[in-house]
Amino acid sequence: LARKTAELILRYAKNILEKNSSPSAEKIMSYRAGYRPEERRTIEQKLFTGELLGVTSTTALELGVDIGELDASILVGYPGTIASTWQQAGRAGRSQKESLAVLIGLDDPINQFLMRNPRYFFDKTCERAIIDPSNPYILAQHLLCAAYEMPIENEESSLFGEQMFEVLAALCEAGEVSYRGKWFWAGNDYPAGQVSIRSTSGRGFDIIHIESGSLLGTADAAMAFETLHPGAVYLHAGESYIVMRLDIDNYIAYVSEADLPYYTVPSTSTKIENVSPFYSKNLASSQVWFGCVKVTSQVIGYRKKQLMSDQVLEYVSLSLPEEEFPTQAVWFAIPKDTADRLIGRGFDIAGSLHALEHAAIGILPLFAMCDRQDIGGVSNPSHPDVSMLPAVFIYDGHPGGVGIAEKAYEQIEELLEATLKVMEDCPCEDGCPSCVQSPKCGNNNQPLDKAGAIFMLRDMFSNSPETYDRADSSDR
Ligand SMILES: [Zn+2]
Ligand SMILES: [Zn+2]
Repeated sequence: LARKTAELILRYAKNILEKNSSPSAEKIMSYRAGYRPEERRTIEQKLFTGELLGVTSTTALELGVDIGELDASILVGYPGTIASTWQQAGRAGRSQKESLAVLIGLDDPINQFLMRNPRYFFDKTCERAIIDPSNPYILAQHLLCAAYEMPIENEESSLFGEQMFEVLAALCEAGEVSYRGKWFWAGNDYPAGQVSIRSTSGRGFDIIHIESGSLLGTADAAMAFETLHPGAVYLHAGESYIVMRLDIDNYIAYVSEADLPYYTVPSTSTKIENVSPFYSKNLASSQVWFGCVKVTSQVIGYRKKQLMSDQVLEYVSLSLPEEEFPTQAVWFAIPKDTADRLIGRGFDIAGSLHALEHAAIGILPLFAMCDRQDIGGVSNPSHPDVSMLPAVFIYDGHPGGVGIAEKAYEQIEELLEATLKVMEDCPCEDGCPSCVQSPKCGNNNQPLDKAGAIFMLRDMFSNSPETYDRADSSDR
């Protein structure tokens, strides 16, 4: 559950209770990262003693917090992995008492896929959903930071796992460490410096209440431009504030109390450069690559969306600095003859690619154990790094990559098969949030051609496009 969603649900619930003059309005709270520690302890205590009846929370409450006995848990949206779904459901009903867990499917591809294919969830074991701490990319960064602090001894594999040696050998080859009885750091820059700007370990922004000068909360630097841009509505403990000023140099956002009828959604523009493939393989009548790319993104504006109805009230442009980071990506090209047939049928190539990109990103968490927020994508009708062919890029949102793109590469056939299923099974005609629309699309979901995306995938995989007729799509 995203922070904003936790705050919005609290706000909506409070409104309804207050309208009915219910005393319960005072007995619900929200809980998330970014609250001050004292605030969090108070909420935990009140929940434990039963003073609070309920809490809307992000996964912040998952982490070893004792909250006593709850009767029910309502999961708003699939948490991203089967393991965390069971874990969150298990927050209710301790000591053998019966409890209720409800999962509400949101209108995005992965939630709707699971709602339509519940066996996918109940038949799967948790194995594939357990976060892999030996992920070589995460381990490599841990090891670099550790070696910088103090040379790593071979015995420390008991801490880092046997995979430590393999990763250290690779780092050695890359000149990042050297071995002289111990593993010494051999890089130039402080290693954490390379990863800090967008990761949670980086310096955070302070959120200052402009009227009182007091510290309201903090936010990750990675999220600052998206959530604390001037004009952004910042929700905290059910109260809404507006960001008056973002002081980028000093990492401070100044907010003022404001009871507004809307919330804000940022728009981001993204481009992919410096493409260098590590390896590639055949994909139906095309090819797929895995490698390194440079992602440059910029928050270019935001939309004001009305509370409850989600209706867009206004779009406001912003000029904020670009942020760039190297990461890993998986990308595939659309064969020229598929593109020709697609255009010949009157489909929109840019819209088809864009729709395919969104649907694939929407369903990827099912294969790569990640959150949709951890992945980004770019589609281009003629990308210079892919022989000017139409191409779809899906990249890891963490600088350097944490293995998400590689997982997508390994399972690309299954991923695209599920992507096709998401689009074909969705009853909408022209695309909706459950299939090809994305809530975080920097282009406000323009252009999108769902039928074209279906044609594209079928053509690539079957080489028998004649079996598919455009007239079919409206009947689905
Ligand atoms: Zn749809
Ligand atoms: Zn988009």
